[in-house]
Amino acid sequence: GFKMGIVGLPNVGKSTLFNALTRTAAAQAANFPFCTIEPNVGEVAVPDARLAALAEIAKSKQIVPTRMTFVDIAGLVKGASKGEGLGNQFLANIRECDAVAHVLRCFEDDDVTHVEGRVDPVADAATIETELMLADLESVEKRLQGLVRKVRGGDKEAVQQERLLKDAQAALAEGRPARTVTVSEEDAKAWRMLQLLTAKPILYVCNVAEDEAAEGNALSARVAEMAEADGAGSIVISAQIEEELAQLSPEEAAEFLAELGLEEAGLDRLIRAGYALLGLQTYFTVGPKEARAWTIPEGTKAPQAAGVIHGDFERGFIRAETTAYKDYVALGGEAGAKEAGKMRVEGKAYEVKDGDVLHFLFNA
Ligand code: GDP
Repeated sequence: GFKMGIVGLPNVGKSTLFNALTRTAAAQAANFPFCTIEPNVGEVAVPDARLAALAEIAKSKQIVPTRMTFVDIAGLVKGASKGEGLGNQFLANIRECDAVAHVLRCFEDDDVTHVEGRVDPVADAATIETELMLADLESVEKRLQGLVRKVRGGDKEAVQQERLLKDAQAALAEGRPARTVTVSEEDAKAWRMLQLLTAKPILYVCNVAEDEAAEGNALSARVAEMAEADGAGSIVISAQIEEELAQLSPEEAAEFLAELGLEEAGLDRLIRAGYALLGLQTYFTVGPKEARAWTIPEGTKAPQAAGVIHGDFERGFIRAETTAYKDYVALGGEAGAKEAGKMRVEGKAYEVKDGDVLHFLFNA
């Protein structure tokens, strides 16, 4: 599955947010199978209103959303790259994540100590980014040394790695995150394998006061500007509201949100923003047993999409009966779609679209 790491300086609201995420997930667990992996790791359902609509049409007994994993990565402080605080363990945790949600304190509260003695989210973002860049620079240099012999021996993979590492090194040495390096499509996989911390997509999560959750504030506006310039994402959230929401029933939560002038819970936006940041999309399988959502990266071909369900589906792939979500709903389900000629038969080369309802045929 896809994993999003939650990082940030101490006292910015990380744990508050993470606890709200997992408590909400635990509450949902009554409705479908769910597991909590470790205290700092939680799996959450990706909210998708389309599932309920599909389940109603197909009279599915169960709704199974697709999931995303969040990891609360505590211990990032100034000096983390030198092994201070939780140091190395912390960096290893980030390395394993597909993307990073960076929580920034955008609320004023004299009762909550700020580690730097002032509330300045843009400076906080830079503090953390600097630590991550230092850690990357060190690991790039180590790896370059380790490659010297292989490169001399003409090892093709090593030559490619060296070239990419040097690109990263040049950016980092100028104080730019590895994210800013332009990578060709042929190099994309090798680049990802380098697992550079500052190459990972970033979502800034601006934690604002309760009464600012709808519009944000001057601080979150500055973060949004920074994100725009850096090719990062940003959202406004109030961790305290989320904490309160997590303790309410779905009906009470909806009422509370309406009172606050919010259309949906910040956690839902956070999950969806993470999903978008990772370039993920959803397809559905729908039947009387269940209506289920599956996650694939954009651009995934039909056999690989089938492989998310089971390896045999990919190996024995024959074709995929495909109905766009809109057609499925408009034509009242599979039979109607088929009759109207809206159920297509797609082969191995088909690139699955977001919202496709798929039925795979395969050789067992
Ligand atoms: P972490 O160290 O980043 O995990 O931060 P915590 O989630 O433990 O929060 C630190 C303190 O800030 C706690 O006392 C929270 O109740 C408080 N806090 C978190 N979010 C907000 C907020 O939006 N507004 C205010 N006033 N306090 C908050």
